[in-house]
Amino acid sequence: MPFFYPYYNPYAIVVLPAIILALYAQIKVQSTFQRYLQVRAQSGLTGADVARTLLRNQGLEGVRVEAIPGKLTDHYDPRDRTLRLSQQVFYGNSLAALGVAAHETGHALQHANDYVPLSVRSSLVPAANIGSQLGFPLALFGFFFQSGFMLQLGIILFSLAVLFQLVTLPVEFNASSRALGLLEGEGILAHDEIGGARAVLSAAALTYVAATLSAVLQLVRLLLMSGMLNRRND
Ligand SMILES: [Zn+2]
Repeated sequence: MPFFYPYYNPYAIVVLPAIILALYAQIKVQSTFQRYLQVRAQSGLTGADVARTLLRNQGLEGVRVEAIPGKLTDHYDPRDRTLRLSQQVFYGNSLAALGVAAHETGHALQHANDYVPLSVRSSLVPAANIGSQLGFPLALFGFFFQSGFMLQLGIILFSLAVLFQLVTLPVEFNASSRALGLLEGEGILAHDEIGGARAVLSAAALTYVAATLSAVLQLVRLLLMSGMLNRRND
């Protein structure tokens, strides 16, 4: 009876904890970022100043620092070795701005030092894109039309996206710990200012944890559906 299956969404409840955590993380990152955007760092340096200073002190003059539009759009692009900071971070001198600028600098340092999880993550990008776009729909299609082969193939493809999310965690945690070490070690933030930068980076890390939990639970759900299909076909 394949026509009934699209109305039946088995094991969706499995993913609920991840949805709740993702909502919480989203609220937390917005509120923490807004809060520390209001707290000016004593040094008066902007995010761009901090990124350039840290890069220079680490011998990475070849990395460019640019401003980009949008909020929380900050990232490091290893392809052209460019650190792109959102307006609030590039021009801002808040604890939030300096924390994010140092975090992105942390990614540039990982790249320069051939930090293994970062190279693994970069090499997984194409497979993870295919896995996240094709894997899940294929698995659902296989389940609804009772094709064990398509369901298995979908699960294998989706696993690549899950693996990508898992490898993202050490990359993000490591960039933040480098950032906080540099901000304090190089005297850019005073000891009592570090807490603000840490709060911003911890909230950001939580969004990655939520995304990873979501991917893992989606995979668990597909595996449960696979078991259900096997029992039905026995
Ligand atoms: Zn990051």
